[in-house]
Amino acid sequence: MNEVASRIREGDARSLARTATGVENRDPQALETLRELAPFAGGARIIGITGPPGAGKSTLVDVLAAALRKQGKTVAIIAVDPTSRMTGGAILGDRIRMQQHHADSGIFIRSMATRGSTGGLARATADLVRLMDAAGKDYVVIETLGVGQDEVEIAGLAQITVVVLVPGMGDDVQAIKAGILEIADIFVINKSDQPGADRLEIELQHLHKPILRTIATEGTGIEELLQSITNRSLTVAAPIPSRDRQGAVGLDHLGIVVPALDAALAFYQTLGLAVAHRETVATEKVHVALLPAGDSRIELLEPAAPDSPIAKFLEKRGPGLHHVALKVPDLAAAVERLRASGARLLNEPRQGAGGHLYVFVHPASTGGVLLELIQETET
Ligand code: ZN
Repeated sequence: MNEVASRIREGDARSLARTATGVENRDPQALETLRELAPFAGGARIIGITGPPGAGKSTLVDVLAAALRKQGKTVAIIAVDPTSRMTGGAILGDRIRMQQHHADSGIFIRSMATRGSTGGLARATADLVRLMDAAGKDYVVIETLGVGQDEVEIAGLAQITVVVLVPGMGDDVQAIKAGILEIADIFVINKSDQPGADRLEIELQHLHKPILRTIATEGTGIEELLQSITNRSLTVAAPIPSRDRQGAVGLDHLGIVVPALDAALAFYQTLGLAVAHRETVATEKVHVALLPAGDSRIELLEPAAPDSPIAKFLEKRGPGLHHVALKVPDLAAAVERLRASGARLLNEPRQGAGGHLYVFVHPASTGGVLLELIQETET
C-alpha cells in the first residue's frame, strides 16, 4: 500500500481531503490510491438525501450528522449541487458548514465541484463515496437536488434514499423526477409546522413508503428519522453496487442512423433522455448526438454529406441500428485475440472523436451487427 493510502487508513484527515480533490479531478495518483484502498470499502452505510431546492436538505443533513456524531459515528457528507457549483456557492457553503461542525475530525464535508459532462459527475461521486467508505467512515451521506438525470443516477449509489419535501409544494411534487420518488425508501416532510403538511402526506401515501415529519431547524423528528434509517439499513442490507467496473467489458453505446437529428432527439427527449454531447465529426462527415442511458449511451448519427458512409448506409438500409459499441479494458490485447481467432477487423485501432482508440469488427464475425470496440479510459 502506498504511503498516502496507509495514512488515510490511519485516519489522517489532510491526506483524505487531498486524495478526495485528486479523485474529483481524475488525478491518476489519487485514483491509484483509491484502487489500493478499494478492498477496505464496504463497511459504510451509504445514505442519499435528496429533494428540491428549498426543502431544507442541508440543514437536515447537518443535524442528522450531529446526531450520528453524538453516537460516536464518523460521517462523510458529499453534497452534489449543480446550481451552487456554477456560482461557486458550493465552496462558500462548505466553509459555513465546516464552521458549524467546529472542524470536528469525525466529520468530512465536500461539495462536488466537478464541471464535467453528464456521467462524469456521477462517476466522480461514486468514487468519492468509495474513498470515504474505504477511509473507514461509518456513514456516507450523499446530498443531491433530486432533479435531472445525474441526480437520479447519483441517488442510486445510496443504500437508503431519503426524499425530503416541504408543505405547500402543491403540484411541484409531480415536477420532481419520477425516478427519485420511485427510489425513495423514506419520505421526510420537513418544515412540517407549515400549512399543507397533511395534504402533502396524503399525496405521498399511495407510494407506500414510511413518511416522517421533521423541523430540521429545531431538531424535531431527527431521532425518529435516524431510527428509521437504522432500521431500514438493517432490514435492507443492500449490497453495494460494484462501482469498480474496470477490467470488465461493458456496453458503451448503440449507434443509430437517423435522417434528421432534431426529429429523432425529440423522441428520445420525450422518453426522458438528455443530450450530453453534440458534434460534427469532419473525417466521418457525420453529425453526432450522445444521450446517456444508464451506464451506456444512445449515439444518434445523421449524415453531414451525401457521400459519407452514414449517408450510404441510410440509402441502402434505411434508418436504424448501425453499430453496437463495447468498451474493453485493453483494446490492443482484444485486437490481438480477435485476429488470432480469425475475426475480420475493418481498421487498425485509431483515434476517435473524443480522443479514444477504437476499432470496427465486420458483421460477418459478430452475428450480423457492426461492432465497435473502444479502449476504456478514465474520464
Ligand atoms: Zn459509435
